[in-house]
Amino acid sequence: MSSADEILILGASFAGVEVVYQLVRAFDGRPPPIVVVDRQESHGYLPLVQERLCGVLDPEASKLRTRAFIESVPGARFVRGEVEAFDAASKTVTLADGSRLTGRFVVVALGSGFDAPAVIDGAQHVLAYKGEAAFDEALGALEGALDGAQEPVDVVVVGGGISGCELAGELAALSGQRPAGWAAPRVRLVAGASALVEGLGARISAKAQRALERQGVTVELSTRLSAVRDGEADVLREGALHTVPAAVVLWAGGIQPASVLARLGLPQTRTGWLAVGPTLQCFVDASMTRPDIFACGDAVRICGGEGQWDTMQRAIECIWQAQVVASNLRTLHAEPADYPEGVPPLRPHTLREEFFYGLSLGARSLVVYRGFGLDVPGVNHRFRRWLMRQYFARYSPLPG
Ligand SMILES: Cc1cc2nc3c(=O)[nH]c(=O)nc-3n(C[C@H](O)[C@H](O)[C@H](O)COP(=O)(O)OP(=O)(O)OC[C@H]3O[C@@H](n4cnc5c(N)ncnc54)[C@H](O)[C@@H]3O)c2cc1C
Repeated sequence: MSSADEILILGASFAGVEVVYQLVRAFDGRPPPIVVVDRQESHGYLPLVQERLCGVLDPEASKLRTRAFIESVPGARFVRGEVEAFDAASKTVTLADGSRLTGRFVVVALGSGFDAPAVIDGAQHVLAYKGEAAFDEALGALEGALDGAQEPVDVVVVGGGISGCELAGELAALSGQRPAGWAAPRVRLVAGASALVEGLGARISAKAQRALERQGVTVELSTRLSAVRDGEADVLREGALHTVPAAVVLWAGGIQPASVLARLGLPQTRTGWLAVGPTLQCFVDASMTRPDIFACGDAVRICGGEGQWDTMQRAIECIWQAQVVASNLRTLHAEPADYPEGVPPLRPHTLREEFFYGLSLGARSLVVYRGFGLDVPGVNHRFRRWLMRQYFARYSPLPG
C-alpha cells in the first residue's frame, strides 16, 4: 500500500493525464507524490480515431506514451491495473490483482464506455474502437475484410452523432486514397435519430447528410440496429425489420458510464455518471466531511445551481476541469489533513456553453459554431493533426 500522502489518480486518458500536467504547474514542478492507475500504458489519439482506423494515420505514431510522461514527473509513478472497487471512507482503491492503493487525495478520471448495448442480438460482433484493445480488434476486422477483397465489402457504421459521421466519411474517402491492397468499402450509416449530428442544429444536419451522400454513403435515419449475424445485420425502421449486408459493423452510437463507476461507492446521477459539485468534489455524505475526493472528465456530471450542468464531454472540457482539480488540490494540500480550521473555499468550475466544433466528413470538412458551418475542405484534417502534435508535445516526458 502506498503512503497516504499521495495523490491517487484513477484513469490516465485526457482528464487524468491533464491533472498530472496541471499538478506539475500548480506545484512549480515539484508536486506531491502522485500515483496514476490505468489499464492502458498508452492512448491512441481519439479525435482522429477514424483516421487511425482507416489507415490514414499510423496507429503506432498516433499514440500518446502516457506512462512515459507520468514516470518523468518527479515523484510520480504509473501503475498498470484494472480498478475494481473503491472505499471512500479510507480512500483506498482495490485493483483486479488484489493490490490496494490509498491516497490523501483521490481523483477519479475513469471516463466513459463506448460499447454496443447488450440488447442488440449479436452485440459481441459490433465493434467499438475506443480503448486500445477494442481499437486493435476493429482495425483487424476492417483490414481482414478490405485487404485483398475482390467483391464489394459492406461496412455499417451505427450512430449519427459526430463520431459516426466522421467515421462514415473517412471510410467513404477510402474510395480515393487507401492503404495498398485495400478495397474501398460500401458504407451505410445507420442513425436512430431523425437527423444527423442533431445537437449541431438543422442546418448542419442537412449539410452533413448531403456531404456524406455525395461521397456515396447510404444514410438511414430513424433506424436502429437490432441484430448482427455473419455478413448481415437487421435494422428496425418504421416498425419493420430490414436485413442489410454487413461484413463489418462499427459502433459509434454514443458513450455510457464506464462500468466501474457503479462500483466506487461514490454519488451517481440517475443515469450512472459520477455526480460532483461545481468544485468537482464527490460529496460522499451530505455533511461534506470528505473534501479530498475529486472526479473530472467524461465520468462526471456537475450538479449545482439549477441542476445538472450541460458540460461538453470533450477533450477541451477535460483540460478546463483538470485545471480546477489541480488548483483545488493545491489549496487543500496546504492545510493539515484533518482541516482543523475548516475546509478552505475552493474554486468552482466555469460552465462554457459554446465552443466550436470541427466535423470531418471524408473529403469535406465543416467548422461549426452556434449552428453555422463553414465548409472548408481539409481544414479540420490539417488543424486536428496540428492539435494532435500539440497534445503529444504537451505530455512529452519532462527532462530528467
Ligand atoms: C470516437 C470518439 C471520438 C472523439 N472525438 C473527439 C474530438 O474530436 N474532439 C474532442 O474534443 N473530443 C472527442 N471525443 C471525446 C473525448 O475523447 C473525451 O471527452 C475524452 O476521452 C474524455 O477523457 P476522460 O479521461 O474523461 O475519459 P476516457 O477517455 O474515457 O478515459 C478513461 C480512462 O480510464 C481508464 N479506465 C476506465 N476504466 C478503468 C478501470 N476499471 N481500470 C483501469 N482503468 C480504467 C481507461 O483505460 C482510460 O484511459 C471523442 C470520443 C470518442 C469516443
